[in-house]
Amino acid sequence: MTTRTPQAADLDEVSKFAASLDTEALLCRTWSHSWDPLRSTVRRSEGQFHWSTQCGRCGTSRTRVLGIDGTLISNSYDYADGYRMEGLGRVSAAGRASMRVESLRRLGEL
Ligand SMILES: [Zn+2]
Repeated sequence: MTTRTPQAADLDEVSKFAASLDTEALLCRTWSHSWDPLRSTVRRSEGQFHWSTQCGRCGTSRTRVLGIDGTLISNSYDYADGYRMEGLGRVSAAGRASMRVESLRRLGEL
């Protein structure tokens, strides 16, 4: 059995992508999303809970599907427009660092 490792995105492409992101999405990529479970919704369907919340910063939505006993069945995201790096590959540690640098630049620290 072989395991396929996703190709890391080119660092220059990640830097260009970070520069193109709106500040809210860039800060979510730097600090993670800002979920507020107190403002979530719960829908029941076929013996499962579909518990959804939205990031208060970038607008990405997250839904957890739980069994009646709370077991996590699935977790999914509906990303805000422009949040994803479509087709560029996974972001390496160096890519995440470049996003943090861009965040600091936006905040006027660089
Ligand atoms: Zn967010």
